[in-house]
Amino acid sequence: MSIIEFKCVSKHFGALKVLDEVDLDIDQGEVVVLIGPSGSGKSTLLRCINGLETITGGDLRVDRISVLAGNAMLREIRQEAGMVFQQFNLFPQLTALDNVAFGPRHVRGQSTREARAQALALLKKVGLEERAHHYPNELSGGQQQRVAIARALAVKPKVMLFDEPTSALDPELKQEVLNVMRDLAEEGMTMVVVTHEMSFAKQVGSRLIFMENGKISVDGNPREILANSANNPRLQDFLRHVH
Ligand code: ADP
Ligand code: MG
Repeated sequence: MSIIEFKCVSKHFGALKVLDEVDLDIDQGEVVVLIGPSGSGKSTLLRCINGLETITGGDLRVDRISVLAGNAMLREIRQEAGMVFQQFNLFPQLTALDNVAFGPRHVRGQSTREARAQALALLKKVGLEERAHHYPNELSGGQQQRVAIARALAVKPKVMLFDEPTSALDPELKQEVLNVMRDLAEEGMTMVVVTHEMSFAKQVGSRLIFMENGKISVDGNPREILANSANNPRLQDFLRHVH
């Protein structure tokens, strides 16, 4: 069953066409890795899925709810699609625990006690139980990003969107974040991941999409695409630059 459905989706910023009539169906449990040159529309595609950007043409449904269905429905979609950004975007004045408990308390209306108990379980899941009472500035980048993942999971999304989640991290901290993402994938979470980590694409991705100029130009099995990249000069050129 498709959980994300793009039907001829366009997105313009003024005269600039950033998404160009994109058709894309993503099934439950897929791990879609999205790659492409800077400016090709990857972040915009992710941001349209949870309504951070408004589409200017076509239709886009998340769990059958259209992003065009109005603000109440958009709030619903935002709870169904959790997002993790390159710059962790934690609340600096809240501990790790309260960052994770924030959504359930304020969006889902859970009691503080309930939200904190669940937050602690999520921090344990991302390996940070013992850092629960630390503030973001007391955590490494990799730890902050794992808190951000726990925070996104706390509202029980059906889909997780990752926009270059390891790009701001030192190489030795990337893997701890990628491991958490791999665990999520193995649990069956539907994920759309913009990343340059081609080993993640190969090992964890169920599907690889190469975007160029607001269009999907390659879409298929990551291992097959990467093994045959010599047949596609632009893809090959892109891959040479991310290595
Ligand atoms: P990518 O993530 O693939 O690098 P983006 O989706 O961020 O690409 O951007 C695609 C294009 O849209 C770029 O040319 C970018 O400058 C432009 N763009 C993105 N957001 C905005 C905005 N809010 N206003 C105007 N132009 C934007
Ligand atoms: Mg981007």
